[in-house]
Amino acid sequence: MEKGSGEKLETVNLKNIPELNKLQQLINADPSGAWEKRWELGITPWDLGQPTPIVLHLQQHGSLPNGRALIPGCGTGYDVVAMASLERYVVGLDISENAIKKAKEMSFSSPNANCFAFLKEDFFTWCPSELFDLIFDYTFFCAIEPSMRSAWAKRMHELLKLDGELITMIFPITDRVGGPPYSVSVAAYEEVLCPIGFRPVSIVDNNLATASRQGIEKLGRWKKLVDKPSL
Ligand code: SAH
Repeated sequence: MEKGSGEKLETVNLKNIPELNKLQQLINADPSGAWEKRWELGITPWDLGQPTPIVLHLQQHGSLPNGRALIPGCGTGYDVVAMASLERYVVGLDISENAIKKAKEMSFSSPNANCFAFLKEDFFTWCPSELFDLIFDYTFFCAIEPSMRSAWAKRMHELLKLDGELITMIFPITDRVGGPPYSVSVAAYEEVLCPIGFRPVSIVDNNLATASRQGIEKLGRWKKLVDKPSL
């Protein structure tokens, strides 16, 4: 009997399809354009459509540092609004103009609108006027090319104040090949963060992860303990 098409597809090695290779090359050559296209076409499967439950939990339990917070690759920005308060000014950054437009539309009538800002900027080149007490990364580390991870860590270090905190949602912990999202592991974060002066404070399973992310997501909290890494 002939196999169903679904079964056949599973056995195809995606790396050997020239059209997909070409597409991946285009994305690699112009990553910001590729993100813009995704937002323009509304292909945003990562978007929860609401604040991340663990962010609400941390906010409600007073376990987020106050001061200035940054969310790079903020997308629609629900977490930016959820974290913002009179005690915590939050900057949401995204390289896509459409994402920032959507974030501004989503949030313009929020009662705490004076406590956050959305900026269209590239995380890797942006120079803020002041450093941050807290940076929150969710689906940003896994969105960038793995070869950019050292640069990601260096930027986190440059943007945080001494003793500042980096909160990472470690997701997706899978064995998937390719991306985005690229699969991650605790070791992948440790490898780039620890040598430049970050120390893990706690790494725990995220029991508040949404259903499809249960078991493949951890909450990692890191402190910047050294100002000038000796590298
Ligand atoms: N954190 C959001 C969006 C995740 S998708 C959420 O969980 O819903 C990854 C986001 O990173 C996209 O919105 C993309 O436009 C943005 N991005 C990719 N490269 C970037 C860069 N270099 N600087 C800033 N944002 C970037």
